[in-house]
Amino acid sequence: MKKLVLTLGAAALLSVTAMASEHKAHEKHWDYSHNGPAHWDEFSKTCGVGHHQSPINIIPGKTISMNHQFDLHLSEDIHTTAKVIDNGHSIKVTPKVGGKVEFNGEMFQLLQFHFHGKSEHTVDGKRYDMVAHMVHQNPKTKQLAVVAVFFEEGKNNPVLDNILSSIGQETRVDPQDLLPTDTAHYYHYIGSLTTPPCSENVQWYLLKKPVEASKDQIDAFRKYYVDNERPVQELYDRKIEVN
Ligand SMILES: [Zn+2]
Repeated sequence: MKKLVLTLGAAALLSVTAMASEHKAHEKHWDYSHNGPAHWDEFSKTCGVGHHQSPINIIPGKTISMNHQFDLHLSEDIHTTAKVIDNGHSIKVTPKVGGKVEFNGEMFQLLQFHFHGKSEHTVDGKRYDMVAHMVHQNPKTKQLAVVAVFFEEGKNNPVLDNILSSIGQETRVDPQDLLPTDTAHYYHYIGSLTTPPCSENVQWYLLKKPVEASKDQIDAFRKYYVDNERPVQELYDRKIEVN
């Protein structure tokens, strides 16, 4: 890119300078320590001023009944190859062919899923041992819908074993295997990405029933990431629906 601008000659010097400083600004990366959540507004204003931010604390007694138009229909049962990477913020799995979810007559495709070393959303102040965020996008409107699967310490989780042993490689996955048997009960609200740029208008579906992972697996994941959770944000005028 720089080379291209240079060929435009001296008249473009100003834009080169502008680009250089822009580039410098981008060199500072957000993280969970020195450039942690309290500084994320330096990377995207929305992180600081948005009133529909995620994660939040769910207070079960303060929820409203689900608008059934927005009921979630999951079709994640797709056997596919997937790339597993450590992207510096999480372990992220990108399936070649994603499953999908549907609600309100709209279809959202699974783009990727990733994990946090403790859950980002809390329920009555309780933070689960881990969480998987399954990120979906509506191909027409580009809107995002994230399905969160909470993890609790318990039995060994075969999917997690597969993923943790495939970092930097491709593997075969079926995202359906990540889901609990009960996917009919969840909390739903409208929030944001939990990392910069903290973009809003994200549909969140938090499955109530957690899945299990063994203590060894949770520890193995936390060797990579233990504190990659954004603190809970103000609810403001939002309502949380429950099913
Ligand atoms: Zn996430």
